[in-house]
Amino acid sequence: MAVFKSDIVEDLYEIGEVLGSGHFGQVKKVRERATGTSWAGKFLKIRRKGGSLLGMDRTSVEREVEILQALKHPNIVLLKDVFESRSEMVLVLELISGGELFDFIAEKDNLLETEAIQFMKQILEGLRFMHSNNIAHFDLKPENIMLSEKVSPQLNVKLIDFGLAYRFHQGQEYKSTSGTPQYVAPEVISFEPLSTAADILSGMSPFQGDTDEETLRNVVAVHYEFEDLYFKTTSSMAKDFIQKLLVKDSRERMTAEECLLHPWIKPITRRQVANRNRSSINMRNFKRFNAKRKWKMSYNMVSVCNRLVNLRLVCKHRSDTDLLQRQCESDVEDSESNPSSLLRRRLSSSS
Ligand code: ATP
Repeated sequence: MAVFKSDIVEDLYEIGEVLGSGHFGQVKKVRERATGTSWAGKFLKIRRKGGSLLGMDRTSVEREVEILQALKHPNIVLLKDVFESRSEMVLVLELISGGELFDFIAEKDNLLETEAIQFMKQILEGLRFMHSNNIAHFDLKPENIMLSEKVSPQLNVKLIDFGLAYRFHQGQEYKSTSGTPQYVAPEVISFEPLSTAADILSGMSPFQGDTDEETLRNVVAVHYEFEDLYFKTTSSMAKDFIQKLLVKDSRERMTAEECLLHPWIKPITRRQVANRNRSSINMRNFKRFNAKRKWKMSYNMVSVCNRLVNLRLVCKHRSDTDLLQRQCESDVEDSESNPSSLLRRRLSSSS
């Protein structure tokens, strides 16, 4: 069982600026009074029995904490402390100052495959460690892949947000419909038993459709193409690597361990090394993908705010607390189309 301190967090930490926000709270920069060290405090609102209908279930936070406590790895955000009060839980995490990896890459004019591989390798190292501990992240996506610093001799990747992560126990079946349409694995949409293999297919999005419905259809059909326009400068090994990840049958998909041994990541022959060194990432396409992703995130944020405002108005008139609860629990990221209502976060159906 995770140990939560009952001290008042403000007594031990000075609370600073907001670094980011999630569905149930904010992440703020905090400074440890005793040492002067800076950390990131994740402040999560907890739902109280018979009280507010908003906020997270305490057991979900406990699960996130227990998983983070089990994961001490250079490519995974470190959890230092946890505090609990009546209405809030605060996770004190390692401060990650370099922003999202994808934003860092999008600022570049060119990126060699060898540079991209250094990032990919770190993501895979983090995943391999997680999976060897029977833990799956289940929400790998660009927003959850950060850089510890933007300026360091070696750029260090950190995986964050273990809110949907799950630890598998032997003989136990786990199903869930949580995730984000573009990055979700087909077995999640089909509500099949899940394994750590679902992390290998998430985190990539060649499946983006014009609507979430189309995206989900593309994911289930594993429908994608290497269009020449975008993949002219891509090495054949990189394409082979991608093809071995985008496999519908989770048992046939490469594991993180196997990915690290693929010749694109770990070339053996001189020819493989040369093939890799000649190739680069299509930055025009990458920048376009990143801009579209950011636009979708801000669009979703506006639509969530509008929805909450409308709900408050409706609920005030109708005292329809049931409606408020249902609406607030559904996936705010993808509320506009039907199939994605399947994809609920945190309070999702799981067994
Ligand atoms: P969601 O509801 O989207 O899953 P969440 O409530 O679980 O989010 P996180 O995704 O963990 O919260 O964090 C929200 C944002 O806060 C991140 O996107 C990131 O910008 C920022 N953030 C999170 N952890 C850290 C950290 N350790 N250091 C710096 N910034 C962080």
